Amino acid sequence: MQKAPHWVIFALQMKKGMFRSHNCGELRLSHQGKQVVLSGWIQASRDFGGMTFIDLRDRYGITQLVFNIDDDQALCEEARKLGREDVVKISGKVRERSNKNPNRSTGDIEIEVDTLQVLNKSKVPPFTIEDDTDGGDDLRMKYRYLDIRRNPVKESLIFRSKLALETRSYLNSEGFVEIETPVLIKSTPEGARDFIVPSRMNPGQFYALPQSPQTFKQILMVAGMDKYFQIVKCFRDEDLRADRQPEFTQIDCEMSFVTREDILNTFEGLTKHLFKSLKNIELEDFPRMSYDEAIRLYGSDKPDTRFEMQFVELNEVVQGHGFSVFDNAELVVGICAQGQAGRYSNKDIKKLTEWMQRPQIGAKGLIYVKFEKDGTIRSSIGKFFDDEALKKWGEKMGATTGDMLFILAGETEKTRKQLNELRLEMGRRMNLTRPDDFKPLWVLDFPLLEWDEESERFHAMHHPFTSPKKEDQEKMLSGDHETMKSLRADAYDLVINGAEIGGGSIRIHDRSLQSRNFDLLGFTKEEAEEQFGFLLGAFEYGAPPHGGIAFGFDRLCAVMNGQSSIRDYIAFPKNNMGKDMMIDAPAHIDKDQLDELNLELKLTE
Ligand code: ASP
Repeated sequence: MQKAPHWVIFALQMKKGMFRSHNCGELRLSHQGKQVVLSGWIQASRDFGGMTFIDLRDRYGITQLVFNIDDDQALCEEARKLGREDVVKISGKVRERSNKNPNRSTGDIEIEVDTLQVLNKSKVPPFTIEDDTDGGDDLRMKYRYLDIRRNPVKESLIFRSKLALETRSYLNSEGFVEIETPVLIKSTPEGARDFIVPSRMNPGQFYALPQSPQTFKQILMVAGMDKYFQIVKCFRDEDLRADRQPEFTQIDCEMSFVTREDILNTFEGLTKHLFKSLKNIELEDFPRMSYDEAIRLYGSDKPDTRFEMQFVELNEVVQGHGFSVFDNAELVVGICAQGQAGRYSNKDIKKLTEWMQRPQIGAKGLIYVKFEKDGTIRSSIGKFFDDEALKKWGEKMGATTGDMLFILAGETEKTRKQLNELRLEMGRRMNLTRPDDFKPLWVLDFPLLEWDEESERFHAMHHPFTSPKKEDQEKMLSGDHETMKSLRADAYDLVINGAEIGGGSIRIHDRSLQSRNFDLLGFTKEEAEEQFGFLLGAFEYGAPPHGGIAFGFDRLCAVMNGQSSIRDYIAFPKNNMGKDMMIDAPAHIDKDQLDELNLELKLTE
């Protein structure tokens, strides 16, 4: 029997409902002459009288379709009627394009269409589905299915999927076991606010959604699981910012019989693996810095170390010369901005000073010294200090001609925070924060406890299960109130480019030390027992020494791609009010549901 011609077979396949022989990102010159079937969305159409060109898009790319009025008038007219985002299936022949598009993987070819089937019509989309869209945040979230069709969001979600796979593969190769922990758990007053879920079967009682699986992973260590991990949703009812979401994902881990060194090495290894496998970047060994050093040199426990511009404390050289702003300050500290002297006119300095004085930063003023190229020295406090003195400061701060010093004075903690903001701003202005430059570091030895003046109590800086450093354990059990402020925790954070990627600690595994910690944190014995009795109880059945860490998964995705917002890495994010604009959540529930839950709604204005 003679074989049917190619086009007949294809016509039959079209009828049989085969949606595609290839995808829209796949065809190349090597396919020239081939009969193909493609399905996708109409990205754009251009009508040139006799010829109509259409860009057909799917997840894999865009392929140009061409309709020629001389070949098939009816088909060409059909094509002209297509609107943006209509879904179509076409068949046709691959041919070389005369006008090639080097920016597209399929840019060498086009499809000479012979059949066209409209699979579904689309309304006109509320924003353009292109890399740069005109849609505002809320609109994009409301129509997230359209937003995800755009390359930047689509690529972000694909990146996320790969990152999860590589994480699993690495941790699996290191002997970790992925274990799921419950989502309906118990509310605890530590840390952020909990999301609460009423229990129908237990009237008047509530579950909470986990802020992290912390206690469960520690129990898994008591249970002998040795190396646990989970890529897990966590929930925190906090005010939102661009890099925060009420539900977010962590790579959560815990290990038994380990020292801090073992944990840092394992997760440095994971981070290097992820950068290598996803970005083809070889990271060097991560430097380490104590919390105290980070605060002293950068005014932040998550310094952006892509650039130096470290703080230099000037009390010694500037105080005692009769300038009261300096003399009365607890700390006088500055940074040296290389090569900036010629860039800042009086007007620019005024603007920068105003920027520092905004309530968000709250600096009283900003003192500058410019070492001009011609050798002159200009300063806002030139009246109080002669050139000799200013030169001395310059020397201490490593300044040469062309450089500019910015100096702040005041109460230590506040002044450091303010100078941190200025340092980051100068880093941005001087283009020192390149998004493709990655500078990770470990920050170590955080304080164990923070004293809160307002509530007059200690808070755990990391969480209440964090162990003090070995050398501080005795002090913790027997020391006085002031001693408690100086305790160091065996806690560590991974910071990349000024973003906190993860944090963890060696845990307390001894019941008496854990009870003492609860005591310091203001829990009565009864409260500690009620809230954490299960953990304290478990510690009495042979708890191994253990420790762990959790990485913010969404943030890691964003930072690896030089982005500050995590939203595009979350398929369905919430807006700044914690709302899901697409499904319109949170929402009221009806009276019957409330009754069933034994709840009564009392809304006050
Ligand atoms: N559970 C901690 C957190 O979510 C991380 C850890 O200590 O492992 O920050």
